[in-house]
Amino acid sequence: MSIDLRSDTVTVPTAGMRKAMAEAEVGDDVYGEDPSVNALEAKVAGLFGKEAGLFTTTGSLSNLLGIYCVAEPGQEVLCDNRAHIVRAELGAHAALHGITTRTWVSNDGLVDADTVEDLMVPDGGSHLVSTAAVEIENTHNFGGGTVHDIDDLRAISELCRRHGVKLHLDGARIWNAHIATGVPLADYGELFDTVSVCFSKGLGAPVGSMLLSTRENIAKARIERKRLGGGWRQAGVLAAAADYAVENQLERLAEDHQAARVFAEAVADRAPGAIDLDAVVTNIVVVLTGAKPASEVIEAAAAKGVRLSAVGRHLVRAVTHLGIGVDDAQSAGEIVGDLLGGE
Ligand SMILES: *Cc1c(COP(=O)(O)O)cnc(C)c1O
Repeated sequence: MSIDLRSDTVTVPTAGMRKAMAEAEVGDDVYGEDPSVNALEAKVAGLFGKEAGLFTTTGSLSNLLGIYCVAEPGQEVLCDNRAHIVRAELGAHAALHGITTRTWVSNDGLVDADTVEDLMVPDGGSHLVSTAAVEIENTHNFGGGTVHDIDDLRAISELCRRHGVKLHLDGARIWNAHIATGVPLADYGELFDTVSVCFSKGLGAPVGSMLLSTRENIAKARIERKRLGGGWRQAGVLAAAADYAVENQLERLAEDHQAARVFAEAVADRAPGAIDLDAVVTNIVVVLTGAKPASEVIEAAAAKGVRLSAVGRHLVRAVTHLGIGVDDAQSAGEIVGDLLGGE
C-alpha cells in the first residue's frame, strides 16, 4: 500500500476521462485546425472573462509565455521569494527572455498592495531596472496552498494599473482558490493581464495548462510557443482530457480540501506543534518536522507507505488529490503524526 501525497500531479486519468480522450475529434493544432483544442481555448477563456487562450504542455510554459507578454528583456518582474516562477522553472524567464525578478519575502506566499508598492519601480530611468510586471501565485504552492483575499488582489490590481505595471497570475491551482472561497473565476480573471491555469494538478488531466489574455497577447504567445518547440499537432486528445476535468472534476476539489483537513488534524492530534491548522485552506498541508531533518521524516514515512515531499530543510509537504480518500488521509495523518509526536 502506498498513499502518495507528494503532489496533485501524480493523478492518472479516470475512466470517463480516458473515454473522452479516445472519442476526441482532432486536427493539426499548428494549423489551428484541432476542434477540441479550439473549443477548450474558447471555453476556458470565457470562464475567466478573457478574450483568448493558448493550450500548452505545462504550467511552466504558460507562465514563461505569460511573463514574456508582460515584460521586455532588461525589465523586472516582482514576485514572492518562493514563487514557482523563481524557484521551480529553472531560471527560464532570465535564461530565455532576459527578464529579471525581484522578490518580497513571506512565510505563506501572500502579499498586500503596500508591500508591492514598496518594491515597485515603474520607471527606473537610466539607472534602475524598471518594474514591468508583478506576479501573484494563487493558491500559493510552497506557501502551503494558501489563498489570497480577493480584496487584496483588487488593491494590487488597482495599484498596478495606476502605475502602468502589468499583472500576471500563476493560477496553477486557481481552481482550488475558487472552490475554497466561492469567488467566481471571472472575478479573478478581470484583475490580471495574463493568467496561467493548469489542468494537470488537482483537476486530474494527464497533461496541459493554458495561458489566458487578450487576443493580441495570445497571438504573440502562440508564435513564441512554436519558437520554443511547443507547437503540437493532434493535441485534441489532451484538450478532451482537460475539458472533461473542468466539466466533471472541478467541484470535487472540495473533497481534496476536506481530506487535507482530515490529514492535518490527525497530525496535529499527535504532534501539536507540527501544523498551523488555520493555514490549511485548500489541498496542500505544510508540516514542520521540528528537530528532525525533512529528509529523515520523508524516508521514515515512505517506509510506512506514505509519500511526502520536502519544501524546506525542516518542512515537508502533503498534497491531497483525486487518488486520496478521506480514509487514506486519516491513516497518513496518523502515521506522520506518530513519527513527529515522539519529539
Ligand atoms: C505545478 C505548478 C506550475 C506548473 O508546473 P508544470 O509542471 O510546469 O506544469 C506552475 N505554478 C505552480 C504554482 C505550480 O504548482
